[in-house]
Amino acid sequence: MIQRTDARWNSVISDLNGAQVDTWLTKLLKGDGSQQEAILGLSEELGHQLSWNRITACVLPYLADFFPNLSKKDQIYLVAQMGAAIAAEAKCPLPLGTEAYQEFHEGLSGLQKEVKAMMVDPQVQPLLSEDTELGVMFALGALAIIGNRKHAYGFWLLSGSVWEEGMAACACGWDEESIPFLEQPDCIEEIQIDPWDGVSFDCEVVWLNGVLELVGDNPISPILPLVYGTGVCPECGEKEPYWDWLYHFYEE
Ligand SMILES: [Zn+2]
Repeated sequence: MIQRTDARWNSVISDLNGAQVDTWLTKLLKGDGSQQEAILGLSEELGHQLSWNRITACVLPYLADFFPNLSKKDQIYLVAQMGAAIAAEAKCPLPLGTEAYQEFHEGLSGLQKEVKAMMVDPQVQPLLSEDTELGVMFALGALAIIGNRKHAYGFWLLSGSVWEEGMAACACGWDEESIPFLEQPDCIEEIQIDPWDGVSFDCEVVWLNGVLELVGDNPISPILPLVYGTGVCPECGEKEPYWDWLYHFYEE
């Protein structure tokens, strides 16, 4: 476990030029002003630049410790807002064995316990349908925290088309920048998604779909069978997970 002290925090923050992060985190932890304003300020600082993984790593253990002090609504807000910064680590993973890696995963494992508990909490579930946009962001934030961060990052890549179109590229050279998801594309084999039992997190697409159903009518549920499905290349016939097609598209 990393020793968290003011001196250590101050040195990391000054190395990383994170004065604003310090200001917002301090406001949040001290309950100075609106919690949601502090969470938003913090997430904007952390989420706007992928190279800030190091500073996200430094902040996560504090957020995990503080999480139980927040109201249920503010917990939902925190997961929704912090998801992008956490998912971004998948794009540029922190090097194994570094202090930053250890901090990131220490914070993440604390948040995982909290988020799993809140997702099966009967008091939390009705709150998810109060605001569709926030509910969707919560589901993606939960995916970044307890599921595959690369998939969560993929959903942010797809958010540019409001999840109506997807990009794809195959190793043979074929690519397509706008597959219309809502028109049952021929090049993707859909998967069947079983209903969620409301308590298990064994199958990512099943619980993700279940949480999105709690949110209600939303733009992501309809595309889940495709994005978790299998792409069949129209040029060379190779099959691979749609997620891989998406990442290939951005690697070119
Ligand atoms: Zn191909």
